[in-house]
Amino acid sequence: MLKGKSALVTGSTSGIGLAIARALAAAGANLTINGFGDKAAIENERAGLEKEFGVKALYSPADMSKPAEIAAMIRGAEQAFGALDILVNNAGIQHVAPIEEFPIEKWDQMIAINLCAAFHTIRTAVPGMKARKWGRIVNTASAHSLVASPFKSAYVTAKHGLAGLTKTVALEVATFGITANCISPGYVWTALVEKQIPDTMKARGLTAEQVKRDVLLAAQPTKEFVTVDEVAALAVYLCSDAAKSITGANLSIDGGWTAA
Ligand code: NAD
Repeated sequence: MLKGKSALVTGSTSGIGLAIARALAAAGANLTINGFGDKAAIENERAGLEKEFGVKALYSPADMSKPAEIAAMIRGAEQAFGALDILVNNAGIQHVAPIEEFPIEKWDQMIAINLCAAFHTIRTAVPGMKARKWGRIVNTASAHSLVASPFKSAYVTAKHGLAGLTKTVALEVATFGITANCISPGYVWTALVEKQIPDTMKARGLTAEQVKRDVLLAAQPTKEFVTVDEVAALAVYLCSDAAKSITGANLSIDGGWTAA
């Protein structure tokens, strides 16, 4: 379905981004993967994509809080594959703390990675997409792009901003065969969720089990975590020609959370 297309997924060394990269490769796209982690594990992932799916895969270590590295990563993908057709802004971090205790440097870092990075990737990638009259921009937002939870001020702010950026870009590129959409998952069991459990225990005075049941899954009517593969399948669908009229949308995949 995506044979010959070139895709880039930020934050694709674990969790949702890794699943999206694998699903795009399974659909035939050449990949640029990005994110932090163990060097050997990342090389395993890159080589595995090539071997398993018969595509070409590159790795960029660009830090999504650094605009110059982001622009260089996009240019690198364009040069390596002759184009960048599919851009998935997925890298993200979380920090949980009451507003008056929220570390200033954490706030700045989260706004940079979870929001500003998408501005930098999109502004660099759009001219090429416009010239070729085809493009897909998929932004991993969150249920927190639609609703808030206490102690997540930077995350909720960044994700609401990402939803606004997505809508604005969708309008600007609508006549160029380019779509821009958000996917907004509820709680998906990944490292990002696992790591926020200790801080949530501290902020709310709960045990780990209570955090899972009474904070995380309390919001999700299905009482189940969303899986990374479910999110990846939606991303691949948005990249298909069948989805060419879906743009500017914020698609919830949250077990009913934001219906409440
Ligand atoms: P994860 O921690 O498993 O993956 C995060 C990825 O981002 C990793 O590859 C990491 O190396 C990368 N990353 C972090 N900082 C980076 C930086 N400065 N530069 C480049 N890469 C960086 O987390 P995940 O749950 O898979 O999260 C992926 C996205 O999904 C995030 O944007 C997150 O906000 C969003 N999301 C997650 C959930 C959830 O419940 N897990 C729910 C809604 C939205």
